[in-house]
Amino acid sequence: MDISTLLAQPSPSDQEPTGASSTPLYQSATFAVDEDSKWDYSRSGNPTRSVLESQLALLDGAEEALAFSSGVAAIAAVLRLVPCGGRIACAQDVYGGTFRLLQLLGQEHAWAIRFFDLHDPDLERHLAEYSPDLFLAEVPSNPLLIAADLSRIRAQLPSKTLLAVDHSMVTGLRLRPLDEGADVAIQSATKFLGGHGDLTGGVVSTNSEGLAATLRFRQNAEGTALAPFPSWLLLRGLQTLPVRLQRSLDTTREIRDLLVQHRGVERVFYPRRSEQECTVLSFATGSVARSRAILRNTRLFRTTVSFGSVFSSISMPVEMSHASVPVEYKETCAIPADLIRISIGLEDREDLWGDLREALDAVGDQVHLPLEVCL
Ligand SMILES: *Cc1c(COP(=O)(O)O)cnc(C)c1O
Repeated sequence: MDISTLLAQPSPSDQEPTGASSTPLYQSATFAVDEDSKWDYSRSGNPTRSVLESQLALLDGAEEALAFSSGVAAIAAVLRLVPCGGRIACAQDVYGGTFRLLQLLGQEHAWAIRFFDLHDPDLERHLAEYSPDLFLAEVPSNPLLIAADLSRIRAQLPSKTLLAVDHSMVTGLRLRPLDEGADVAIQSATKFLGGHGDLTGGVVSTNSEGLAATLRFRQNAEGTALAPFPSWLLLRGLQTLPVRLQRSLDTTREIRDLLVQHRGVERVFYPRRSEQECTVLSFATGSVARSRAILRNTRLFRTTVSFGSVFSSISMPVEMSHASVPVEYKETCAIPADLIRISIGLEDREDLWGDLREALDAVGDQVHLPLEVCL
């Protein structure tokens, strides 16, 4: 069956007694302990979360998926598969919170951490020399939205290296990292999976029984699993994910084409691989002051750091989501200070473009630079 059918109709838990046609919210910390029951304590297992995790596994084409309390909790769990003193390789140009987490956990675990340019022609040699325990990549990159060739990265990695891929931007609906050689796939459910800007959650999927067991053991020991209510909200979000994504993608492509032609826009950043096209796009205006003015001028595009919601949003990554990235990395990743990132929701396309165009027109087009759509 198609994934949209599977997401629309979650199978009830095998212990669901009521025949409820929508998955009930089991907002309970404890369950009566008897021999037949699978459930005792919600930190260890909850029927609502369990249905959600089955749906998330279907979405990622995975044997198992684990729902975490946030995207960064999911990333932290994966990073900590690396032993103390181990080596981590990370793609440049990743989510700002991922940098912060790497710095924090890296000190505590005495990890060596190095950042790599995925498009470096000598990547394979550099990786072979470094021989990391884990390679963490994000597809497409954030906020420059550079698509990555996962199969090529896998082929260039030493065989012992775990490949972890954060595909929050595209979701399992468009890209299944596990099919392209990743050992674990990570998503922030706060973004498109939840889709309504009303929950925080994270997902780790894997086909490895061993990794799943380790992650699940620690998730229970540390109490990082997703609580029942956001699990229920996320199940609801997944039911409409395919239609939300399709509609927002259509609008995003149209707005991308209009932005490329606008005189106030210097460069538009959007993934070049179709499976990594997403509902987020970035553009540079040529001046930080003009970009700030555009953020002040839009009304429908709300200034928020997140993306993937029913409502559209706008941000300046260098000053907002990537504020925690150390300056030297911001420079290596070449994130322009005037970069604007927008996330397209479900509003009417004409309304959205009207809002953005007015904001752009209001700041004028000082210079007309050559237009370019980047990688
Ligand atoms: C938001 C985000 C995260 C972190 O997720 P939270 O749910 O905010 O903890 C991780 N990776 C990417 C690509 C993100 O956009």
